[in-house]
Amino acid sequence: MRVAILSIGDELLTGEVTDTNASHIAGRIYDCGARVFRHLTVPDDEEAIAQALTELGAASDAVIVTGGLGPTPDDYTAQAAARAAGVELELSQTALDHLAEFEKRIAKPLHPANRRQALFPRGSRLIPNPLGTACGFVIALGQAELFFLPGVPYEMERMLADTVLPELSKRLPAPWRRITLKVFGIPEAAIAERLKGAFPADAPVQLAYCVKYPEIHVILRAAAKNGKFLEQAAAEVRTRLAPYLFAEDDDSMDDVLARLFRESGLTLALAESCTGGMIAARITDMAGSSAYFLEGNVTYSNAAKSRMIAVPPELIERHGAVSAEVARAMAEGARKACASDLALSVTGIAGPDGGTPEKPVGTVYVALADAGSCRVERCNFQGDRARVRSITCFTALNWLRE
Ligand code: ATP
Ligand code: MG
Repeated sequence: MRVAILSIGDELLTGEVTDTNASHIAGRIYDCGARVFRHLTVPDDEEAIAQALTELGAASDAVIVTGGLGPTPDDYTAQAAARAAGVELELSQTALDHLAEFEKRIAKPLHPANRRQALFPRGSRLIPNPLGTACGFVIALGQAELFFLPGVPYEMERMLADTVLPELSKRLPAPWRRITLKVFGIPEAAIAERLKGAFPADAPVQLAYCVKYPEIHVILRAAAKNGKFLEQAAAEVRTRLAPYLFAEDDDSMDDVLARLFRESGLTLALAESCTGGMIAARITDMAGSSAYFLEGNVTYSNAAKSRMIAVPPELIERHGAVSAEVARAMAEGARKACASDLALSVTGIAGPDGGTPEKPVGTVYVALADAGSCRVERCNFQGDRARVRSITCFTALNWLRE
């Protein structure tokens, strides 16, 4: 089964918008056991779209097209599809009804231009859009069935899942089984080294890496019938990556932490300097975090460190705000201030300014205090301000998991 993707939109060719639709569609098709063999992007231009449709229609079994179904005169997709198929555009009563219903739902009249969105190539079959005004449609061209979906990612994703994939999956190979092992704190090359020989080279299992900074996902895939080999390979990979493995499949670091805190009954306070509240934001992203998260102090200035969490000014003067001593005092001070079981602190130099030869940009101290002890470590992160802050945040979350 040869599946192609056609992305339509000027903004995709000027770099203004990243083509997340194509990557989403390719991923879903891959999950179904096939692989997209071709992906084209064309501007909002009737001629260019019609040409691409003709070309892909001749070479594919199915083409998934996104974009250009809007009400404005620069949306040409339906016209181009009609032209490629050699038919007229026709007003669809179903689509008009959909527009009327949509109008009722938002209790606001639609612009008369939206009527354009009820025009489809004669003979096309509509794809319902539960989330927006633009219905999708299917036409046959050459050997191929062409599925047209709106460009708006969340509408497109819903229509792909509800209509297109169920139709296609009847003709696609059986879905892959996939196990995603999420690791942190080890570079890709070191992972590959550790995984050498983890399963026989001729085992029917594929191994892939996907960097989702600062996480690395190790993906194992096998045909459904080879599930036994997949499980065996995954067990070995889990063992070899154990110190770095923090979650699997749909679980995120946040999910894992939320579960650990709920189960342990421990409470948490934070004192953040260079991350300015990012860690607190991550923790409170999780529903139910109020059960264990008590307080986050954004102690950015030296004065705030002393006033809010009682870090002695002399300590800051002697060692500097970015030091093991101050990180420890921040964690212990935050713990005392709200009587939590645990308190975590970070203080560092995110850059671009503020680095010194002894403490260059990327120097971060993390501390975690409990009733009896305090672990403190220096980290030397690389990268620009955004990367240093995000890896600091992730490192802190990972400490809480450990
Ligand atoms: P609408 O009914 O909203 O006009 P449409 O089918 O005409 O839908 P577009 O106008 O092409 O869609 O795009 C709508 C929005 O979706 C725009 O913000 C656009 O930048 C975005 N978009 C379009 N194509 C893609 C894509 N391939 N990946 C990510 N975003 C996209
Ligand atoms: Mg567009």
